[in-house]
Amino acid sequence: MGKILFWLVVILVALLVARIAARSAVKGQRQASRRADATRFPEGGMVRCAHCGIHLASSEAVRRKGYNYCSLAHSLKGPGK
Ligand SMILES: [Zn+2]
Repeated sequence: MGKILFWLVVILVALLVARIAARSAVKGQRQASRRADATRFPEGGMVRCAHCGIHLASSEAVRRKGYNYCSLAHSLKGPGK
């Protein structure tokens, strides 16, 4: 009887460890994908051109009167469409 209890405890601990390992693996994958996004858009994400609607990295955007534009030409035309 004592032996059965011992194996029961061993199996329960193994299941617990497996569950914790799986959870930390998922967390690690999420952090990895977040890091990948950070390297793709170093300046904090994408912005939309207020004139033509194209998406570009915010570090490349032209800012004018509170709007983001893809180019100087579109910033001079203003928000449109
Ligand atoms: Zn544009």
